[in-house]
Amino acid sequence: MAKLTYLSRIISTVCGATVCGATLMSVAHAAPSPAQLDVLPTTTNVYTSYTVSWNMWWGENAQRWTLLSNGEALCTGELEEQGNSKQSGSCEVKFTPGEHRLVVELCNASGCSESVARALVAAVPELQEWQPDTAYAAGSFIIQGKSIYQAQWWTKNEQPPAKVWQFVTEQGASLSAEVANWQNNATAAYTIQHDDLCAYITDGIIHHAIPELSARGLQGSVGVIAGNCANYHWQAVEQFAAAGHEIYNHSWMHTNPVDPAWSDEVEIRQAQQMLMEKVPTAVEFYAFPQDQASAESIAALKADADFIGMRSVNYYLARGVNDADSFDPYFIKNDLFTNSGIWSVYEGSDDILRAYVDDAVMQGGWALRTFHGVEDTSWEQIPLQRYQGHLDYVKSLVDEGKLWVAGASDVIRYGMARRSCQMQSTTQYDASLVLSFDLSDPVCKKYLADDTQLSVVVSADQAVNQIAAHYQQADAAQQPTIARINEQQFVVNLLPRQGQVVITLE
Ligand SMILES: [Zn+2]
Repeated sequence: MAKLTYLSRIISTVCGATVCGATLMSVAHAAPSPAQLDVLPTTTNVYTSYTVSWNMWWGENAQRWTLLSNGEALCTGELEEQGNSKQSGSCEVKFTPGEHRLVVELCNASGCSESVARALVAAVPELQEWQPDTAYAAGSFIIQGKSIYQAQWWTKNEQPPAKVWQFVTEQGASLSAEVANWQNNATAAYTIQHDDLCAYITDGIIHHAIPELSARGLQGSVGVIAGNCANYHWQAVEQFAAAGHEIYNHSWMHTNPVDPAWSDEVEIRQAQQMLMEKVPTAVEFYAFPQDQASAESIAALKADADFIGMRSVNYYLARGVNDADSFDPYFIKNDLFTNSGIWSVYEGSDDILRAYVDDAVMQGGWALRTFHGVEDTSWEQIPLQRYQGHLDYVKSLVDEGKLWVAGASDVIRYGMARRSCQMQSTTQYDASLVLSFDLSDPVCKKYLADDTQLSVVVSADQAVNQIAAHYQQADAAQQPTIARINEQQFVVNLLPRQGQVVITLE
């Protein structure tokens, strides 16, 4: 604080004019006040997790903290600046063998401060085979076969895996991790869109499409002509959104986008304003009527921060499966449903609906199917029975782990976050992994929302019982979820915005 006061005095002395003061005021912050590390044991071991906590009791606030050991970051977190209020943080750490000099660094726009260091040594326990006639003190480590255990309390003649022995890890095991192409490690992604809600002739979307999708636990995606909706349409839209279906913007009045009557201000922005008023969830995807638009309109859409993507225009150049590694969020290919199959890439096959989905699974890509109404009087409406048959097939692929069915904005967020938020995995001494994500890429910043979940496939080099996963920051509200793929592989669903994740063997 002394520094800040001094600086303010200089400003008032040197500057008479307000402009000068205003310019200088922006630099009149100081680096954060230093943090204090909580007391830690001076001798630790490489198998135990330690919670390292710090506090900055009062003073200049920081925006980010990093715990360093011998100059290398162990964990890091964001902070909210609130005047001179107390700031604190903690994380769980397993130390590598040897000496550690721990320091907490606090940083804000003006610079960084360092805490006083704390030193500790992490020892590798000597591992001996368990013996029935040996007494073991609490905290002792033993090995049986390849499994390492730690005694929870004093014990004698209780053979692992008796309750007293806590499993630590498998000696020699190694884990690796990779972000899956699609959520839950599904082979492919599929979006089921229904255009033209509020055209009145498409009310089969309300009466059939959404109920059939919901009955199978599938997420649907409904395009609204926002300037044409009656109250009952808005009520339906609200219900669909609340039930987890996607609502996307399909213009204000379905004007032909290449007609002089088209206006970006009305057909994109005014429609979006109305949708934001009426829909309880975010509306982030746009589909131009007739999949046509001028270059100016596309540019206007890309410049609009409300949107993260759009269905491609130039349908003939943009049919088929989107590639997981290279799809462009503003050029999402689709396949248009017609009863005869005309204009589909799969025209001539027995069932264009099935052919498109199968193609996506074969390519590991993303299919976006465009429908209009179901069993109503809309253009190329799909008969109910055919729709039901298709959804049954889709559901069977979901159950087999081959398909992830989701709205376009969820698929875009997942795919773009996977490509731009680089994951690093660090192996710790006991074979556990620390996963961290680099969120600095502007593309990552745009597409990774707080609730964007990525699925990470964790593989072991041998059969393992189970793995556990938790966020390294001790105050995480929820933890990652785990599902087994086979005896060596698991899927971990996590939120990269929650910080680093620790994966351990159990
Ligand atoms: Zn339309």
